[in-house]
Amino acid sequence: MKKFLLLATTLFTLMMLAACGGQEANGNSQEDDGKVQVVTTYSIVYDIVKNVGGDLVDIHSLAPIGSNPHEYDPLPEDVQKTTDADAVFYNGLNLEAGNSWFDNLMETAGKDGDDAPVFLMSEGVEAMYLTTEGNEGEEDPHAWLDIRNGIKYAENARDGLIKADPENKEVYEKNAEKYIAKLQELHDKAVKQFKEIPEEERVLVTSEGAFKYFSDAYGFQAEYIWEINQENQGTPNQITRIVDIINEKELTGLFLETSIDARSMEAVSAETDVPIRGKVFTDSLAEPGEDGDTYIDMMEWNIKTIKEGLSQ
Ligand SMILES: [Zn+2]
Repeated sequence: MKKFLLLATTLFTLMMLAACGGQEANGNSQEDDGKVQVVTTYSIVYDIVKNVGGDLVDIHSLAPIGSNPHEYDPLPEDVQKTTDADAVFYNGLNLEAGNSWFDNLMETAGKDGDDAPVFLMSEGVEAMYLTTEGNEGEEDPHAWLDIRNGIKYAENARDGLIKADPENKEVYEKNAEKYIAKLQELHDKAVKQFKEIPEEERVLVTSEGAFKYFSDAYGFQAEYIWEINQENQGTPNQITRIVDIINEKELTGLFLETSIDARSMEAVSAETDVPIRGKVFTDSLAEPGEDGDTYIDMMEWNIKTIKEGLSQ
């Protein structure tokens, strides 16, 4: 209750500031611009919704680019934007579950009712599950790394936007159709490219075990230091385990994620004398203007980096 009061007070202060100060600091969100106000939980969902919503939507994304969306502490601004939002899109599959930050935010923002405009991007995705002791049976969130699931995300973005803004149904349908065609093309390209790597060499070692869905789609074996981001550093036991696997399978390349601290993978590389072949995107896009700053771009980057890294 105390927390709620504090939030309410913060909100009130923010509203007063907005009312008295006129312009917002970032200046890009005008209440009267007629756009659909959207909140997304992290950069990949942001980009997919943006592609379907186009100019009709104003999107506020919560977990910043480069960060790990498994954990997030919403800011007062996030609470306000979520309260005001016409539509909220989230990944689900346990992604936004750390400290229940997403559920708590929905409750605080009054978006926890059955008919609240809160849309699950992974609706219809066949969940895969964690296997590490203590986490067994929990859903693995990284469905977007299989581009066929990215297509489902785009369809769910379309359906959510149509619910929030039925007047522009045709625009969302058209945008989604165009975008999905590109995703399908990229998926087909990935299948073709990876087939050129001999099957026994299609082993992907990353810090976090984010590549289950990817591996299933593109015929890889996924190995990792830890299965799901919790503390972002491998324990000595986890390092020993992966070092043994790498030596046993005589693997020749390791990969590091852009949103993860490099030290654990560097330790594994030093221990095994197997080089890190490149950085891949998992939980976040790149900063705007850099390679990998859209979902399509990040997947293209991953395909190229993994293909080249395993062909040396
Ligand atoms: Zn992750």
